[in-house]
Amino acid sequence: MRALTVVPGRAGSGAVRVVPEPVVGDGDVLVDVVRVGLCGTDAEIERGEYGLAPDGADVLVIGHESFGRVARDAGGLTTGTPVVASIRRPDGCPNCRSGEQDMCLWGGYRERGIKGIDGFCAERFAERPEFLFAVPETIADVAVLLEPLSITEKGWRHVGVAQRRMTVWEPRTAIVAGGGPVGILAALKLRLQGLDVTVVERTHKPVKEALLARIGAGYAATSVTPLEAVAARSERIDVVIEATGTSAVAFECLRLVGANGAVILTSVTGAKRSTLLPADLINQNLVLDNVLVLGTVNAKSDDFRQGIADLAEAEGRWPGFLGALITRRVSLADAARALSHDPSQIKTVVEMT
Ligand SMILES: [Zn+2]
Repeated sequence: MRALTVVPGRAGSGAVRVVPEPVVGDGDVLVDVVRVGLCGTDAEIERGEYGLAPDGADVLVIGHESFGRVARDAGGLTTGTPVVASIRRPDGCPNCRSGEQDMCLWGGYRERGIKGIDGFCAERFAERPEFLFAVPETIADVAVLLEPLSITEKGWRHVGVAQRRMTVWEPRTAIVAGGGPVGILAALKLRLQGLDVTVVERTHKPVKEALLARIGAGYAATSVTPLEAVAARSERIDVVIEATGTSAVAFECLRLVGANGAVILTSVTGAKRSTLLPADLINQNLVLDNVLVLGTVNAKSDDFRQGIADLAEAEGRWPGFLGALITRRVSLADAARALSHDPSQIKTVVEMT
């Protein structure tokens, strides 16, 4: 079968190659892939910065934002069921053993399409049923967005748990730094939670401003309005989600959040940049305002299930919004060319058929 692949560690090696059919073990589910979302991680892997092929293999099938249909009855799933697969596979550490491989302690986890196991940007894949999430037909067209949404689902769940440190926490205002798919989906989650949300990115994109207005979210560009000025529009910022991919912005966010607030950091900043920081001011804000700072990666099954519920609710409340985030569709034959980052796109997906 054909698949979008890279030779890990070799920049520019992304290509559609013929790879062996997936091995369907006892109890495994064979999935016909419908579409796969591409993201910044795929671009990093294609640049050779990241990624690990399966044991004994030279190439890695990439793509970790999946949507497909069950090819034949297996694992309690019937033929045709729309499904999304999670990414991370456990390594046997205490956290993985309890079903929280997103909290892996040993770091020996594998990730489909990223680290040690083939991904989903292929005509088919096989998977254990416990790593597959059936989605309703009503959100089949947009379920490829479940994985990027699951990042915020986990972060928000963790904030909820951590904020029980106080008796009363009633968040009203939020800033999301970063206007990529993760940032926009974070804003969507917070709008569903009833918060006033402003998405902030560097350069002003009127299309994105109009898109976010559809869900009642504000928009600002730091090229026009500095981040601190955006924050100053509200009496107090209760939640900041950082999803820009830039560590300097992450630290800037630590100064924005108000009393008892929470900062959720999601950017995997793979570069080795250093920056000068107003360390006293940042530290003082964190201490005097009882600020919670929470890093988060990946997601567990609860987060995927919550994400499915939220996609369905969002689709009912703001029909067409999620679909509008998929701005570019390419065929598998053209998929390698779509790997490099294109700032004019929100989400690029590879359509298998
Ligand atoms: Zn583990």
